[in-house]
Amino acid sequence: MPWMKGYPYYLLLSGTISLYMGIFACRFRRLPGRRYAWVLLLLIASALVLTAAEIMASSFKIKLLMRNLQQLPLLFIPLFAYAAVRDYVSPLPSRFRRKLTLLSIPLVLDIAFIFTDPYHHLIRSSVGLVNTGGIIGIMVQPTLLSMALIAYDQVFGLYAAYLFAVSLRNVPEHKLKLNVLLLLGMLISVISSIALPALKITFTGFTVLTLLPSVAVVYFAVNRYPQLSPVPSVSDRLLGSAIEGMVLTDRNGVILSINETGEKLLTRMFGPVPFHWLGLSILSFLRQYPSILGCYENRQGGRIELEPAEEESLYCSISLIPLEGSPEEGAMLLMISDCSDQKRYERELEYQASIDDLTGLYNRRHFLNTFNSREHREGEGMAMLLMDIDDFKQINDAYGHLAGDQALVSFSRKVLNFCKNGAIAGRLGGEEFVLCLFARNEAEAVDKAEAIRRAVVGYTVMLEGGHSIHLTVSIGMIYTEDPDTPFEQLYRQADEALYLSKTNGKNKVTVGGHFSVS
Ligand code: GH3
Ligand code: MG
Ligand code: MG
Repeated sequence: MPWMKGYPYYLLLSGTISLYMGIFACRFRRLPGRRYAWVLLLLIASALVLTAAEIMASSFKIKLLMRNLQQLPLLFIPLFAYAAVRDYVSPLPSRFRRKLTLLSIPLVLDIAFIFTDPYHHLIRSSVGLVNTGGIIGIMVQPTLLSMALIAYDQVFGLYAAYLFAVSLRNVPEHKLKLNVLLLLGMLISVISSIALPALKITFTGFTVLTLLPSVAVVYFAVNRYPQLSPVPSVSDRLLGSAIEGMVLTDRNGVILSINETGEKLLTRMFGPVPFHWLGLSILSFLRQYPSILGCYENRQGGRIELEPAEEESLYCSISLIPLEGSPEEGAMLLMISDCSDQKRYERELEYQASIDDLTGLYNRRHFLNTFNSREHREGEGMAMLLMDIDDFKQINDAYGHLAGDQALVSFSRKVLNFCKNGAIAGRLGGEEFVLCLFARNEAEAVDKAEAIRRAVVGYTVMLEGGHSIHLTVSIGMIYTEDPDTPFEQLYRQADEALYLSKTNGKNKVTVGGHFSVS
């Protein structure tokens, strides 16, 4: 098998990577179980290197020496895995080191027997060479005692996996996925180290190779989230009890800590992420919101409200709190609050304060605000139409107030039909309405006013109780091409025109402004 030629090289490479990972993991000084985990990674690295040395050595003697030296890391790896997990899942009692020393006695004896000629036979019944696909390594025939000691050793690996699995019950939800991944990596190593020899799948270095998934997963998990501890920390509890989303990031924008609300809100804001928010850089997401990104990059505190792009999506406010002087220089805390309910409530209040209950048209105040903030249109003037339903009192008197209300609603719908192309309509009070519309000239505005008048006349209002009535409306209109004409002036002139419509027989449009206004 040609690829096997590079096999010792791959082992050396894996050894170097494990060594690097061991050294790298020293950065995470707050991770429980770290000391044992460092030793563990160093043991794995040395086992890999010694295995490569065994294969590469040309003489039997050196091959055997390398194989014997490998036993030291190999036997201690499960014990240190147990110690690391034990420390990781709960605080260690002070007597733990003594316990560990006692537990290691059989392993030390095993190694002592291997290295002392008079006792070597207690561990190995025979030693020879084996060639698997061109890889020449040492083959040993273990004695019953050796097998018992190996079984004793493997129990630590199994027990560590058990301890880890049991501890997952208490893991905060946001740390669960990474911890499950760690457990799986560990299980691959533990199970394959037991199952492969049982299945007679053995070749030089197989035991140590089974450790690589663990190494890779530990490295990945720790790198993604240095505070991976399965025990809920004080900050976990604090963050967990907060109503707001809390996201703590380091100076590079990497999320160090996040509570469940934070995860949910980030997911709603930016969409789901493949694995976990922990360990991701928030910077690439904040690019969608330049205002926040600017404050974030300048380490500037403050509160920013985010308007959603779509009507029904999330309204939220983000408070940025730079954590100066913290151990993590440049760290930022983002407090995210969901203000959707509050915004909806505010919009509801705003709506209620601006809309006339009965007709759904703008009320006087809101009409005025809208009128004053309207945009001027190039080449178009504006017409104001004051409309008053004729003889409305008689409808109330004849059919009752409720029927009058119904007539007002029907009339408003008709007016709304003409509310196109930037026109605004409002109920000024009683049965008096206003409509402002854009027109290129007065004649066009008059046409529109006439169209409204005719539409009202031609419409039959069906009242409850089976009665049907016809309304007529008198309209006073004023047209101006000066966008700065104040509302009061237009209103006064339109009102005077309306008065003329009424006195000239009602159901009429009168254009104002052609008479002098004092
Ligand atoms: P004119 O043709 O001169 O306009 O006569 P009119 O009867 O329409 O005018 P008038 O101002 O004398 O009467 C208006 C009536 O509108 C009086 C009032 O009771 C009624 N009104 C005002 N607001 C409402 C309302 O919200 N609902 C109902 N049903 N009637 C209303
Ligand atoms: Mg009237
Ligand atoms: Mg009136």
